Amino acid sequence: MSGLPDRTQWEQKAATLHFPSQAFIDGEYTPAHSGAYFVNYNPATGQALGEVAACDAVDVERAVRAARRSFNAGVWSEQAPTARKHVLQRFASLLMSHRAELALLETLDMGKPIHDSWHVDVPAASQCLAWFAESIDKWLGEVAPLPAHLLGTITHEPLGVVAAIVPWNFPLLMALWKIAPALATGNSVILKPSEKSPLTALRLGALAQEAGIPAGVFNVLSGFGVPVGQALAEHPDVDGVFFTGSTATGKVIMAAAARSNLKRVGLELGGKSPHIILPDCPDLTAAARAAAGGIFYNQGEMCSAGSRLLLHRSLMAEFLPRLRQAAARYQPAQSLDPRTRLGAIVDRTQFERILHYIAVGQDQGATLAWGGKAALCDSGGYFIEPTVFTEVNHQMTIAREEIFGPVLAVIPFDTLEEAIEMANDTDYGLAAALWTSDLTTAHRVSRRLRAGTVWVNSYEEGGDMNLPFGGYKQSGQGRDKSWHALEKYTELKSTLFKLG
Ligand code: NAD
Repeated sequence: MSGLPDRTQWEQKAATLHFPSQAFIDGEYTPAHSGAYFVNYNPATGQALGEVAACDAVDVERAVRAARRSFNAGVWSEQAPTARKHVLQRFASLLMSHRAELALLETLDMGKPIHDSWHVDVPAASQCLAWFAESIDKWLGEVAPLPAHLLGTITHEPLGVVAAIVPWNFPLLMALWKIAPALATGNSVILKPSEKSPLTALRLGALAQEAGIPAGVFNVLSGFGVPVGQALAEHPDVDGVFFTGSTATGKVIMAAAARSNLKRVGLELGGKSPHIILPDCPDLTAAARAAAGGIFYNQGEMCSAGSRLLLHRSLMAEFLPRLRQAAARYQPAQSLDPRTRLGAIVDRTQFERILHYIAVGQDQGATLAWGGKAALCDSGGYFIEPTVFTEVNHQMTIAREEIFGPVLAVIPFDTLEEAIEMANDTDYGLAAALWTSDLTTAHRVSRRLRAGTVWVNSYEEGGDMNLPFGGYKQSGQGRDKSWHALEKYTELKSTLFKLG
């Protein structure tokens, strides 16, 4: 398994692992000024991992002051882009040289399989950093076509002090999607991880420092959404707040930005993505595998999960057994076992929320085809079977609301128009997919799907950094990844020189 230790080795490493517990402000680990801590749990066992600093508005003030001071001093913002590139490249390398430690922290903290933390989360976070590092000394400004006595330049400048507020489902990767372009463009950054998964973010503080990022330029505040996230979103000296999380919280953050200083807002929010299988699907087995991966990978705790499978009625009998076979790969099992593909749900609240939606699906008359129950109950952790509802009506709650768990709603359709209409009949617009053998159908339908990403004949394929990621409608505003992310973290300046 390309260097992946076995379960016993992971358990041995876990027994001696150091768990970060303090915030990282102005180049130093520090307790919350109030001295408050909250207990952080391993969702695969229900046992406490340790205590983590519960910051509040006073700590936000300290971090904003440090970030502002470092920004104004130019210790990072005025470094040559090539110099920033080299520091961020070292930071990217450090993520990989701490791969086992970071993968272990991620898995113990939020329950995802160690296989995924090791193979996906840590390498993808490192690649993201390396990509933005490499981009920053190649992002050119412009010169306006003006009369001979004038010179007009158009340049990108960092926003200033930037807050990144991130969720728990991909704690390290979602953090890097924001802090990599923010740091590359010269901002000073305050990262606020979810209270459910603070560990890898806290560890980043020391790694950033080791890479050469000056004190005050990168800060990490652990703690709850209220007060920490709220204080960042409302702060008059924060120039931008970039958020990944639920649509409900995104709206609160936007309102806070409007109430305070009209800071720049970027929002990557929820989804209820449609995965359409047309009658001319080129490979039903591959489509079934993609459908299972699209909803059961990461325990279904994915903003882009293909949670609505729109299946042509004629394919039901052929497709469902294939789906069941593909889903068998995702049996709930201990997260530290490298063979596990479906780990623990992040915490009791989310676990109960998912079971509640399963009960609602049954109450509203959807057919529970398989799964639907809690699993590994003796472990003390929060596991749920991969669950599939068939004969789901598009108006049912499980077809409309984001569950954020391993629960698939299979919705039959008869015509292409009906499928497109149902696919777009949602408040969200993050991702969509369709399977067809016909090139014209592929182009026409993908154009009509109102989503930031559309996959044709795949799902969640190719997370290349060149492809922007973000949503239409209430799935958000702005894009992470790619050159377009650089725009979010910069102001555009026109400078006009009158030549003598
Ligand atoms: P959440 O909205 O509950 O919390 C996200 C972050 O916001 C956390 O750090 C939390 O502490 C903070 N927060 C909570 N209340 C706040 C407030 N009033 N002010 C400021 N900050 C506050 O979301 P979650 O449960 O952590 O994550 C799951 C959600 O994230 C899902 O809806 C999922 O679809 C979405 N998500 C979206 C993307 C994307 O790229 N579009 C990626 C991953 C997750």
